[in-house]
Amino acid sequence: MYRPLLIVVSAPSGAGKSTLCDRLLAERKDIHYSISCTTRQPRGLELDGRDYSFITDIQFQKYIKEDAFLEYASVHGNMYGTLKRTVTDALAEGITVVMDIDIQGAKQIRDHVRLGHSDGIPVEAFMDIFIVPPSMDELERRIRTRGEDEPDAIICRLDNARKEMESVDEYSHVVVNSDLDTAYAEFQGIIEGASKG
Ligand code: 5GP
Repeated sequence: MYRPLLIVVSAPSGAGKSTLCDRLLAERKDIHYSISCTTRQPRGLELDGRDYSFITDIQFQKYIKEDAFLEYASVHGNMYGTLKRTVTDALAEGITVVMDIDIQGAKQIRDHVRLGHSDGIPVEAFMDIFIVPPSMDELERRIRTRGEDEPDAIICRLDNARKEMESVDEYSHVVVNSDLDTAYAEFQGIIEGASKG
């Protein structure tokens, strides 16, 4: 018998978080992805309502005023937030939710749940996982070889990654992604173990 979980996954960019989450969601159709709101523009093939809910600054501010967000943060100059109802509706239906959010949002939810201000999220349903690269040199190599960023943006991403790595101790689980299959087995095992409680 599985119990529904709220799984928060964070990582510095380039650590392989999206690949691990995508594989989990492809294999476990019973787990839902928490679709965040963001004020940034869609990139590439991203779709509204599938990858993000792309909203205006005005709508984002309205949600803040209405206290509709479970957490929100400014990341790389854009606003990102998770609506409370996205998570609480799923948990109430017995569905596990996985969230791909940054370290600021993870901290807000962790503090919120631990203080018992949890809006229907039981403390035992919450778990957080931090994905780390095997080394900063390897992270730099990955970011450079994927060729998506200009030199300045690479320096900025690496700077951010170093800062984000300082939060590793706040997470209850850490997965080192040197080999993807090994990392996935560990990631999936942590989630499987927690769902069985
Ligand atoms: P991207 O714009 O590349 O999709 O995401 C940039 C960063 O924003 C990633 O680290 C991602 O985890 C984070 N992020 C995405 N959605 C949310 C959210 O709802 N809340 C917070 N705090 N961070 C988010």
